[in-house]
Amino acid sequence: MTQDKKEYKYIFGPVPSRRLGMSLGVDLMPHKTCTLDCVYCESGKTTNLTVERKAFVPTDEVIGELTDFLSSDPALDYITFSGSGEPTLHEGIGDIVDFIKKNYPQYNVAILTNGTLFYLPEVRKQLLKADLIKASMDAVSDETFVRINRPHRTLNLEDICNGLVKLRQEFKNSLVIEVFFIPKINMADDELKKIKLMLDRIQPDQVQLNALDRPGTESWVDTAEEVEMKRIASYLGKAEIIKHYKTSAMENSAGMDVEHAIVSTIKRRPCTARDIAQSLGISEENVKAHADILINNSRIVEHKMPRGVFYKLYE
Ligand code: SF4
Repeated sequence: MTQDKKEYKYIFGPVPSRRLGMSLGVDLMPHKTCTLDCVYCESGKTTNLTVERKAFVPTDEVIGELTDFLSSDPALDYITFSGSGEPTLHEGIGDIVDFIKKNYPQYNVAILTNGTLFYLPEVRKQLLKADLIKASMDAVSDETFVRINRPHRTLNLEDICNGLVKLRQEFKNSLVIEVFFIPKINMADDELKKIKLMLDRIQPDQVQLNALDRPGTESWVDTAEEVEMKRIASYLGKAEIIKHYKTSAMENSAGMDVEHAIVSTIKRRPCTARDIAQSLGISEENVKAHADILINNSRIVEHKMPRGVFYKLYE
């Protein structure tokens, strides 16, 4: 029996994500409603620059869509709050996170945020039950903050940084800080030194370094060279570069890390190359080529069954 794919307004995917596995997206914000107007934003210019928190979309409708989608017990690793605006601006985000964790504790919840509102105690409190918060911090000096992030006029960088420190003290799950680097703007030694000091204060579980991957809002924003990113990663220590520099001829056009996606897909149950190809929307040949690499690296194994060859995790 086939079921028509439902149209949802606030949830999207699930999509295979490089870091989160199969991830269902939740977008609580109207297009480009944000506290910042970052020059590198891939969603375009911010049209509603605001710090006013409110129910931009009805909280009960979002919960209704989640209830409907999750009723079929889908294979997901994460439910991720992201989209084309700042999700912590939605005052109902805490109720939605609590709803998911109470009724569907088998799913992890991730919040992708620009981190500007954690100076507000109520925002920190609302997200305590999330499994992962990934917050941005691209600058620690006012001038650079204004050049890169073009914040709402009432935002204060010192408050924002202190808010991230407080979040770390109160939030017991995984906190990731992402720093986006732009050549000639925030890659000079003095800015890097300030960023490192602030990261030392925040003590996140992980630091991720990013750079322009596709056209941003402003055409003058350049992509940081790989060698420069490596230099910064080694200076900051324990930082991971997440900008995907091309290294493999087999990489697909969407920049998906196919090997990671294969491992995430078969983590829940063994799959054939065809199963995985359908799930990831890529060719069977592509799956087989990457699966061979994973087999050679002893990450997965083949298992012959009447329906064909299944891949499963190496144990
Ligand atoms: S915080 Fe995120 S959504 Fe807002 S402008 Fe910056 S990159 Fe775009």
